[in-house]
Formats: sequence, structure tokens, C-alpha cells
Amino acid sequence: MKKTKIVATIGPACTGTQKLKQMVKAGMSAARINTAHGNLSEYDCIVENIRKVADIPIMFDIKGPEMRIQSPDDDTVKKGDVFTVGFGKQEGRYFNRDFYEEVQVGDTVYLSDGMIKTEVVEKVDHKIKLKVHIGGFLRKNKGVNIPGRHIDFGLFTPWDKEVIAYAKEKDADFIALSFTRTESDVEGLRKKLKATEIGIISKIESRESLDHLPEIIAASDGIMVARGDLGVEVPSEKLPVIQKQLIWDCNEAGKPVIVATEMLKSMIKEARPPRAETSDVANAILDGADAIMLSDETAIGAYPIEAVNVMNRIANELEPYVHSRIQFSESASVDDSIADAVHKICEKFQVSKVVTLSQYGYAAQRISRYRLKEDIIAILESPTAKRKLELTYGVTPIAYKPTHVEQIPHAAKHLVKIGLLKPHDLVLFTGRMYSKKRHITNVLHMHKVEELLEYAQ
Ligand code: PGA
Ligand code: MN
Repeated sequence: MKKTKIVATIGPACTGTQKLKQMVKAGMSAARINTAHGNLSEYDCIVENIRKVADIPIMFDIKGPEMRIQSPDDDTVKKGDVFTVGFGKQEGRYFNRDFYEEVQVGDTVYLSDGMIKTEVVEKVDHKIKLKVHIGGFLRKNKGVNIPGRHIDFGLFTPWDKEVIAYAKEKDADFIALSFTRTESDVEGLRKKLKATEIGIISKIESRESLDHLPEIIAASDGIMVARGDLGVEVPSEKLPVIQKQLIWDCNEAGKPVIVATEMLKSMIKEARPPRAETSDVANAILDGADAIMLSDETAIGAYPIEAVNVMNRIANELEPYVHSRIQFSESASVDDSIADAVHKICEKFQVSKVVTLSQYGYAAQRISRYRLKEDIIAILESPTAKRKLELTYGVTPIAYKPTHVEQIPHAAKHLVKIGLLKPHDLVLFTGRMYSKKRHITNVLHMHKVEELLEYAQ
């Protein structure tokens, strides 16, 4: 079974059920909807089509404190040009967020994912004048970065609030929060998601987020290494080490981590990736990423299915070489003791599969940290908990009602029926007994499947 998860951004190039079906077949594990584009009626169609073709998680990527520049037309700006930009909706060019007070003459302002470099040369009448140092093509709706300048606007735009309400109404599985600054941003979103099971993926894409990493990781359900903006906010040569460190921190914490942006960028136009992009995807997997992401490659690219396919093939090739540096710590919890025992047994015996029975999938996440060669099948009660585990490396989640240890034979019978276990498999099962604690896993069984089946009457 495939261990590395693939998140694909859904957009005009792939909203039809035929394309989506083929992307799932090619290995897509989760669907991301980037709310920088589109509207709710378009999302209706996307959500409906995804649900028609597969039970995979749907992630709404909200823009939070992200800044963008809107222009009436796509246009080229050249070195030496000076142009005026306003704030708020009006004629001509304007920024979506008002940072007039904070920005200073002399500040560097990057436009269009860092491709265009400008400098603030004048502030007048609540507008700023930008002088172009490095020119380029400026599309109608592009990202803006002012590295290092703290701008104190609210967490959500009115549009974000609409999307959050919509995501709740549609029972989405994740919300990805762009430009997460500190853990209080995560808590702010968590408050809005109260009484739902929606998970929060914090996007690390600013210097400020790098300064608050441990707290952000602890407060979130997962992390995205958002290399597009992060590579503008910090010099891009620092990205590879930041990526490795961030992945390691998430592996240690047992939180899924997604590596995003430009992974197969050339495939927006070309049917095959250059060697450098293949290596980038491979290295993210070796670094310990749970998931790898496609953005424009699938949303607006010419080869959405092929891009998923290429990622899948690279993952298959690399997974045998993935190792974990996780060490068992003396202060480990009961769950981690069980996870470590699973790891040790797998090293010594010819175990076929590991099966966890739990309510939220926490046990599977703790075992996943060890990056076992054996597949982990997580049996969960709730379909949402099942979909949320689709981002965790090496875990195949299955929604199936009985998750008590007493039900192991029934679970085994079900897994045989759906083809995930064979009668001669030797399997490790973990579960909970004599405890009412939320996450606890305190039981480890080892069974030959055919012996269990006799008890599954
Ligand atoms: P975006 O985030 O695609 O929403 O900008 C990802 C990134 O910046 O890498
Ligand atoms: Mn971004």
C-alpha cells in the first residue's frame, strides 16, 4: 500500500468527475480547495464531485493574514517603472489588506510570489508608490510579501469567515490557515470550529511563524511547509534546511506534515518533470514528509492526472529508503510504549500488518512516527476521523464500527473481506481496555489471522 500521501489542489483543470476519478486512481489522497480563487457555487460543484468519486478529505485553504494585489488587467512591469497602489476596492491597482500605516518608505515589497521586487518610494493620500527593481509579469490577483514587517491586521477577512461557515456546513475535514503567525491564530480558528471535527493545518510561510514553531505545531492538527511564500519571506537558500527541521519537529510531535509548492512546477506545462523536481519530491519523502502537495500543477495545469501519477511513482520508489530517527524516551506515555513495542516486534518478526483500533486514530499517528515498513491499518468509528488520518504516512484508515479489543476477530474478518488481510498474515493489533481516557492505547495483541477468524462468529 502507498504510504506517502498526495494532496492535490482542485481547480478548473480537474473539477470534472472523470478527471477526479482518475486522480484518485493515480494516488490522490486529499483534495485542497484554494479559496484565493473561485466562489461558493464553484466549490459546491467541486465538493459534490469529489464526494461522488471517493471518500477522501476535503481541505479548504483560507487566506487569513495573506496579502494580495489586485490589478484590472494582467500586465508587465519593467525595471524603473513607478506605479501607484491603493487599499481596498477601487479603480486601478489595490491591496486586499490595509497596511498603509505600517509600511515605510524604503521597504521592499515583493509581488507575484517574489518574482517582482519593488520599493516603497512615496506614501500619499492613503496610497503608496512602488518603484520596480526587478520587473516581471503581474497577473490580476497575486501574492504580496513585505519580509520582516509585522502587520497587525485581523485574522480573518469577511471572505474567510464565509468560507469557514461554508466548510462547516459542508462537513469539510480540514481548514488550512495561510500565514499562521502564532498559536493564538490557531486558537482563533479553533474557536470558530467549535463543535465540529474539522482539523486545522497551519501553513508555515512567514518569519513570524518560524519564531513560534513549537507552539504552533502543538496547537495544530497538521503543518504545511508553504514554500511558495516562505521562500520569499526568507532567502530561498535557507528553505531546504528549514524544511528538514520543520519536518523533523512534526515527526517528533506526531503531527502530519505536508510539503507544498512548486514540487512539479514544470508539469503545469510539460508532460514530464525535470530531474531536479523529481529529486525535490524524493527528498521531501526522505526528509520524513507525511504528504506532498500539488498546487497549480493540478488546479490549472495541462497534466493534472500525470502529475499525481509522477508523485505516486516517486513515492513508491523512495518509501523503502525512509527511516525514522524517533527514539523511545524514558518518559514515554503508555501509548508510546505500545508504539515502541510495535516497532521493535516488527524489526524482529515477519509481521504482515499493524492494525490499530481507536476512536480518533491517535495510536496510528504514534506508530506512524516510526516509519515502519509494515502497513498500518487504522480502524476508526467516525468517518471524519477516518478521513483526517488520510494525511498520515503509512496509515490506511478504515471506518468500521466496533473498535473495542473484544472485537478484534470481527475487525480481522472485515479486513479479510475487503482484501486488506489474508488468512496466513501475522498481525499486530493495538487497542484499549479497562480505561476510559480519550486517547489511551494500552493493549497489544499478536495473531495469525486464520486463528482469529474462528472467533468472529
Ligand atoms: P498558497 O500557499 O499556495 O496558498 O500561497 C502555499 C505556499 O505559499 O507555498
Ligand atoms: Mn502561500
